[in-house]
Amino acid sequence: MSEDFTYLDWAATTPLRPEVLASMIEAAPLFANPSSVHTSGREVRELVDAARATVASAIGADPKEIIFTSGASESCNLAIKGLVFEHLRHPKLDGKPHIVTSAFEHHAVLEPIEWLEKLGFIEATIVRPDDQGIVHPEAIAEALQPNTILVSVMWVNNEIGTIQPLAEIAAVIAQANQGREVPILFHTDATQGIPYLEGTVADLRADMLSLSGHKLGGPKGIGVLYRAKQARIQPLIHGGSHERGFRAGTENFLSIVGLAKAMEITLADRPAEFARLTELRRRFEETVLREIPGSDINGHPTLRSPHISNLFFADIEAEAILTALDLSGIAASSGSACTSEELGPSHVLMSICDDQHRADGSLRFSFGWTTTDEQLDKALEVLRIYVPKLRAIAGRV
Ligand SMILES: *Cc1c(COP(=O)(O)O)cnc(C)c1O
Repeated sequence: MSEDFTYLDWAATTPLRPEVLASMIEAAPLFANPSSVHTSGREVRELVDAARATVASAIGADPKEIIFTSGASESCNLAIKGLVFEHLRHPKLDGKPHIVTSAFEHHAVLEPIEWLEKLGFIEATIVRPDDQGIVHPEAIAEALQPNTILVSVMWVNNEIGTIQPLAEIAAVIAQANQGREVPILFHTDATQGIPYLEGTVADLRADMLSLSGHKLGGPKGIGVLYRAKQARIQPLIHGGSHERGFRAGTENFLSIVGLAKAMEITLADRPAEFARLTELRRRFEETVLREIPGSDINGHPTLRSPHISNLFFADIEAEAILTALDLSGIAASSGSACTSEELGPSHVLMSICDDQHRADGSLRFSFGWTTTDEQLDKALEVLRIYVPKLRAIAGRV
């Protein structure tokens, strides 16, 4: 990567924080198995325990409620499938377990639900967000059934950045749970929320919460599922009794150390970064809207995490702008990194606007701790030049 490379794709992944790398290098000579009872094993065990305590306190949980996984994809799978397996042929459940989720969840939530439904294990109701990208608590309330066991709604959408009213959704669930023999649990994919927004599991009122290391400056391949003590789930990986029996396999020690360090720094910087990115994005979006005709913001005007700006340019293929940006050393994205290799419009944008022209002409800029106004000025310059140019080529001016 060259010096003047401008990375505006932080929602896809983040660089490793230098302090994280340092913490991992420092721990790297330790190799003993944390399950071993000898001194070197116990030394590693202590570091894993300390990391677990750090992560737990960062989200207001008890260390016993933290399950280390390979990332948010696994965490979401464990929350969903683990709860479904706990409820299969449940004597007190009338019919198959039923799950409610939203149409613009990450594939890590949508795919396991779709798979379980196809296998005939569950029923599912997919709730549509409104055209500003907000999932309404009333829509969730309407979707609940007597056999509902889980509601899964993400905190911050990874393509448009909209913030979901989780506490209000949890209140709807709490209301429905009164007098229920089998309670409905609430899971949130908080992968894009934790790095930028303030909130504990108590604030969010979540029974289960998924997060990922590489979205907050930690290593890839490490994540967390928070599981409240009362939430009973089955493991997906059977074997040893690691992670209190919820996930077998020798702990990913170095990545766990790195994740805890990344969490620590994220928490310390989060309020100031929120303010800084809010201002940075405000200036960026105001400039785009003022200087580029036929441009618009996707998602709610204010209920959005400041690290994401999803912009629509009428009569343009987003892929063409992305190529122009890339040639200028700027990395942005159309939709999520996980779906950009798929053909077809973003399921997130289609769920809020149902307009393929808008989905095809939209791109995501996402920001993090090294993003500066100067970098965004560079992106603005490319947009100023190429948006009219590309429209002219397409014969649309
Ligand atoms: C990145 C992301 C995931 C997947 O996380 P991995 O750790 O890469 O598995 C899940 N949900 C959201 C919202 C994400 O942004």
